[in-house]
Amino acid sequence: MQSTMMDCDLTVSSIVRHGAGVHGGSLVVTGDVRALRRSSFADVALRAERLAAALARLGVRPGDRVATLSSNHQEHLEAYLAVPSMGAVLHTLNPRLSGGQLAFVMQHAEDKILIVDAGYMPVFDSVASLVDSVEHVLVVDADGDVVQSIDGSSWKGSLAPYARVVDAERPGFSWPDVDERSAAAMCYTSGTTGDPKGVVYSHRSIVLHTYAACAASCFALTDHDRVLPIVPMFHANAWGLPYAAWASGSSLVMPGRRLHAEAICDLIARERPTVSGAVPTVWNDILRHGETHAIDLSSLRLVICGGSAVPRVLMQRFQQEYGIRIIQAWGMTETSPIGALAFPPACAAGEEQWRWRSKAGRLVPGVEARIVDQDGRTVPRDGLTVGEIEVRGPWITGSYYRTPSPDRFHDGWLRTGDVGTLDGHGFLTISDRSKDVIKSGGEWISSVALENAIMGHPDVAEVAVIGIPDARWEERPLACVVMRRGRSIDLDRLRDFLASRVERWWIPDSWAFIEGVPRTGVGKFDKKALRAAFASGAIRVEKIEKEPTRVQARP
Ligand code: ADP
Repeated sequence: MQSTMMDCDLTVSSIVRHGAGVHGGSLVVTGDVRALRRSSFADVALRAERLAAALARLGVRPGDRVATLSSNHQEHLEAYLAVPSMGAVLHTLNPRLSGGQLAFVMQHAEDKILIVDAGYMPVFDSVASLVDSVEHVLVVDADGDVVQSIDGSSWKGSLAPYARVVDAERPGFSWPDVDERSAAAMCYTSGTTGDPKGVVYSHRSIVLHTYAACAASCFALTDHDRVLPIVPMFHANAWGLPYAAWASGSSLVMPGRRLHAEAICDLIARERPTVSGAVPTVWNDILRHGETHAIDLSSLRLVICGGSAVPRVLMQRFQQEYGIRIIQAWGMTETSPIGALAFPPACAAGEEQWRWRSKAGRLVPGVEARIVDQDGRTVPRDGLTVGEIEVRGPWITGSYYRTPSPDRFHDGWLRTGDVGTLDGHGFLTISDRSKDVIKSGGEWISSVALENAIMGHPDVAEVAVIGIPDARWEERPLACVVMRRGRSIDLDRLRDFLASRVERWWIPDSWAFIEGVPRTGVGKFDKKALRAAFASGAIRVEKIEKEPTRVQARP
């Protein structure tokens, strides 16, 4: 029996039309407090139509890739709206990729047009000779330096100011009908192992993900909200915040390139966003800034934090010192990215809530997960049995763009490379990425749990734990610690502090006190760089020699 329901394609243009038609008065605010620009959704939608007309005039046809090398601002949002809606494919580039990787992904995706911030022109210039697919470059005048960027560019192809090209067109571009299963956008994984791999989102996956993001069990967005996406728009679609905000009529506050703690705090105090999202290092920097400056974060009702494990102490300090709820989220570029959010279940009260909130998250409707052992067998969903997390769902990638990777998929499930547990309430815990797992004496030590415990010490500002080779135990943890300003540490005390919090054989016997943990292009702790620094002797390690007797041999 067939249903009687209409069969409408789920397309990005339907989101664009809804936001413009129903929430035309909502605002997009761009910049920092020194210079803010404001436009209504209605105006931004007209600009998106003009951009589509300009791109069509430049020869963009359905399926062509239009890349962006941009921070979070109104023009980037215009590209989010226009490019998929005209049937082309938006490819968001990470300006912090190495030159080789940036050239690789642009060439691999065959980007035809590049929309680039004037400030990022030198980044493109450094790789332009390696990319032969690009035909036109449009330069966004994010900081008022578009002319120098164009004059100073070594790229001799077609180059024009974004504003001039877009303003020359009329609005009224009519969005074509597109198949909901066709490509709308793409994003490459960071390539920590091997070359980056392309994930291609469909119109359908973006729309379903947007509906999920708006739900009350997710971001619960309405037109009463003001959303500040600090997470870059090239990092897994800014976690879906731009489309979700547009669909719900939540005004958007776009921070541009000034992302240090002081600039963000000023923007929050001035523009009073209610919802924001960023990786833990950003919120940790804000907390540290707040230790020496008066900051006003009182407008925030929800802070979404993920991309790497969120230390419990970070969430507790935000709650206690600022009354702000940080909710941990889990996801990947491959999962669009929302997979799970750690809202405590209704049955949890008081202190017990922290147990739930410290997990990676509870599966959102639309995402299924299972844990498998090393032989690929599904293990019990008991919150105890550890294995690799596999996921599936309509906004989870089923392959990589032109890169056969059979080892990343298993019977229609995506192998996440994350190691952890799943319980009967649908909560995931992540003990490690499989490449970060520390194997000591035949047993696994969770670097995430160890970092969480060390972060609980009041003198510790940041910590990253990596596995280092050990003649007797195969591997042992090395804790790389950043102390809070003006504090010094007694290693014996720190180890005593840990003794009641983790298993004794987990306690690191190797410690390094460093100025800052290196970060990846999206602001996460860069454990690969730490491992390289250790291997080259660039990190001074303090070793506790008495340790082996304390470590229990494991089978
Ligand atoms: P990158 O490879 O640059 O980190 P992604 O942002 O796609 O790119 O990374 C996804 C990975 O981030 C996940 O597979 C997981 O290892 C990690 N991650 C995301 N959220 C969490 C979380 N809440 N806790 C622990 N790890 C997380």
